Amino acid sequence: MKEKGTNCSFCGRTKLETDVLIAGTTGHICNVCITQAHDIITEEMEHNTREGLEEDLTLLKPIEIKAHLDDFVIGQDHAKKVLAVAVYNHYKRLLQEGSKDQEVEIEKSNIMMVGKTGTGKTLLARSIAKMLNVPFTIVDATVLTEAGYVGEDVEGILSRLLQACDFDVELAERGIVFIDEIDKIARKSDNPSITRDVSGEGVQQAMLKLLEGTVVNVPPQGGRKHPDQKYIKVNTKNILFICGGAFDGIERHIRNRMNTNALGFGNSTDEQIDETNLLQYVSPQDVKSFGIIPELIGRLPVVTHLNPLDKEALRNILTEPKNSLIKQYRKLFEMDDVVLKLDDDVYELIVDKAEEFQLGARGLRSICEAIMVDAMFELPSSEEKEFIITKAYAEEKLSHKKLRQLRAVS
Ligand code: ADP
Repeated sequence: MKEKGTNCSFCGRTKLETDVLIAGTTGHICNVCITQAHDIITEEMEHNTREGLEEDLTLLKPIEIKAHLDDFVIGQDHAKKVLAVAVYNHYKRLLQEGSKDQEVEIEKSNIMMVGKTGTGKTLLARSIAKMLNVPFTIVDATVLTEAGYVGEDVEGILSRLLQACDFDVELAERGIVFIDEIDKIARKSDNPSITRDVSGEGVQQAMLKLLEGTVVNVPPQGGRKHPDQKYIKVNTKNILFICGGAFDGIERHIRNRMNTNALGFGNSTDEQIDETNLLQYVSPQDVKSFGIIPELIGRLPVVTHLNPLDKEALRNILTEPKNSLIKQYRKLFEMDDVVLKLDDDVYELIVDKAEEFQLGARGLRSICEAIMVDAMFELPSSEEKEFIITKAYAEEKLSHKKLRQLRAVS
């Protein structure tokens, strides 16, 4: 007969049948029931967070997504619009999956961004992931090429995504992957039958399934697969892939296509072609001519471009974004009770030098660093409460020798 008062009040197990029986004011609970209750709570909480995420997603309309991007990225209105719509549709697709209405299946809208280095491709992708609060990772396509043309290696992309969210597979399966330098794995010749550039094309082939959506065995530590390694299964169906590349020389393909089309009919000659920025006309066809295989292009249905940054954009990048470079330096000096002031013509100087480097906004940071490093070294130990940068001071810091070093580094 069971002794009254020493049974679990939930499952009825006797004290002897359990490892631990905890007494409450009016009953008892055993270790098995505690574990079960814990699992129920965790599941319930996860469910609630996901519902919350879905609500968030339905609330963010493309205009709001773009407005958010405006806080961090200067210019690039076209790319922002295209991205906002693609991301909005992507998450609409995720929401539709849970619903009963499955008649029209919305296809994935992976994105291809074409634009010179340092114009904001990575920044756009990163800002979107941050806004959506989903796992995000950046992978360099060139690394995939170096590892050889064995297809498995592309799965390492997902290892990084898993690492970005502490191996929460469900979260990773809704994440965003930015594949940079996709142009570097282009086929070197447009004619596949004669000169096969195996490394590039091999990686492109391997990426196809990943981009489209499949269950992948991911090596948790990345790198190459070993036969005796444990894998994590990740479904890439709902992962948004954004590819970016500078596609140096693609203008030639754009020009060729446009010239050929101009000879055909149905083309209005009133439309003037802006020769200074041919990238704005980029089409999937040009990306193909550049050496990306048609199957891969098919899986990146949204193609957009980023404009080269002009002086005004570079000037704005220095001060306008929420965490702009100058704001960051101001903050750093402020922490030592030093007020940072820059004369107007210093901004011009920085912008001119950045243009000279032809590294887009990427050059701005190293130029600012060269101007400020001495002050950042000395001021924390001094009594100075103000640091005024004049053009002469900046020019001196950017003397020829230092600039040469900068160039070498960039
Ligand atoms: P890309 O991926 O196109 O080569 P990044 O996005 O990595 O360039 O940009 C390099 C640096 O320049 C980053 O620090 C970024 O903050 C800044 N930057 C580039 N473009 C912009 C832009 N349009 N607006 C604000 N900052 C930018």
